[in-house]
Amino acid sequence: MKVEPRPWLNAIRPYVPGERAVDGDGSLASNESLLGASPAVPDALARAARTVHRYPDPLAVSLRDELAREHGVSAEQVLVGNGSDELIYLLSWAFAAHGGRIVCADPCYRIDETSALVAGATVTKVPLVDWRHDLDAMARHEGDIVYVVNPHNPTGTCHPRTALEAFVDSCKAKIPVIDEAYVDFADDPEATTAMPLAAAGKALVLRTFSKIYGLAGLRVGYLVGPSEVLSVLRGIRAPFSVNTLAQAAAVAALRDKAHRAMAYSMTVTNRRRLIRLLESAGLRCVPSQANFVLTVTPDEPGFLARLHQAGVRARPGSDLGVAGTVRITVPGDAGLRKVAAALEDHPAMR
Ligand SMILES: *Cc1c(COP(=O)(O)O)cnc(C)c1O
Repeated sequence: MKVEPRPWLNAIRPYVPGERAVDGDGSLASNESLLGASPAVPDALARAARTVHRYPDPLAVSLRDELAREHGVSAEQVLVGNGSDELIYLLSWAFAAHGGRIVCADPCYRIDETSALVAGATVTKVPLVDWRHDLDAMARHEGDIVYVVNPHNPTGTCHPRTALEAFVDSCKAKIPVIDEAYVDFADDPEATTAMPLAAAGKALVLRTFSKIYGLAGLRVGYLVGPSEVLSVLRGIRAPFSVNTLAQAAAVAALRDKAHRAMAYSMTVTNRRRLIRLLESAGLRCVPSQANFVLTVTPDEPGFLARLHQAGVRARPGSDLGVAGTVRITVPGDAGLRKVAAALEDHPAMR
């Protein structure tokens, strides 16, 4: 067999997932929920398990209706995917394949870039300024799609909605996509969702069940935006990409508002505690509105080794395009104690 991948695929580095700790409390490399899924999810899964001999609902009608109600839009303005990642791939295929262009930040969310490269598109990366998207510079670039991740991954920084409104009105790229994977963790009153822009048909907003809803293992994300755009994606997607269990779990998770509120308040509280711990050890933290904190260290490998010793696995900044930093997911109380242990006698304190 002669193995000859298409030449443009050579530019793609294989994905390296976040490491897992032996003790789950120390697994702080993948921005998973510190609380886990709603207790209503296992029941929903058990019920749905009885029908797994049937194909899933290709249109995810119940979930889509529930999401449309949640966001005050019509069901035609919602498209559900196998994680946000599938939807990002579909966007690249539909709107940037074979020589199109996407615009994103540098560093960007990896899938935005990878999906574009797979589709044979070119990628314009615009450096962050003060760890935040340079919206003015990004708006000036022509492109088929422009991605703004708000709050950003891996920095956790956020632009206010007013800035996004101005960006969407002025940007030269044809389709602005606001990735709001972490918006549910924002506590800054200015850092609110861009969903009204999606409802008005001016942008696409991307959301996921992987973060605040704690369903990363089931793979559900969704796009809200103009139905003309979504119907193109609907036309090319694999019809059964969102499986029966995932659809049922997402509906159950969405209905459990109390659980979601608890995940929010625990994350906000422990984010403050994590930042206090890191700062009192002399480490600078980038202001975060997400469920992780990017901390700046003069010795990335040394700091990672310390965390490792204490049973914590965090994400090396050098894997994420920000060498000299470490990204730590906001932990529960047990994980926080491990981080505290790793910081005892941290050199910067002396
Ligand atoms: C975690 C994350 C997502 C979610 O991806 P899924 O495929 O839905 O799990 C989307 N965008 C960003 C920037 C993320 O960090």
